[in-house]
Amino acid sequence: MSAEHGDDKSSPYPPCSECGGTVLAVTVFGPMAAIASPCGCSVSPEIFDGAGRE
Ligand SMILES: [Zn+2]
Repeated sequence: MSAEHGDDKSSPYPPCSECGGTVLAVTVFGPMAAIASPCGCSVSPEIFDGAGRE
């Protein structure tokens, strides 16, 4: 049994808005400030909030 859910081509992780790399985690410093990992770019915290939601 596969746990894969959703047939979208989208990856479970959102792309970095700065470098386009896969964002595995976001460290949020505030409502408007976050750092993507592992690339380390400054991104919006919303990068994860809107991803993978149905
Ligand atoms: Zn990046």
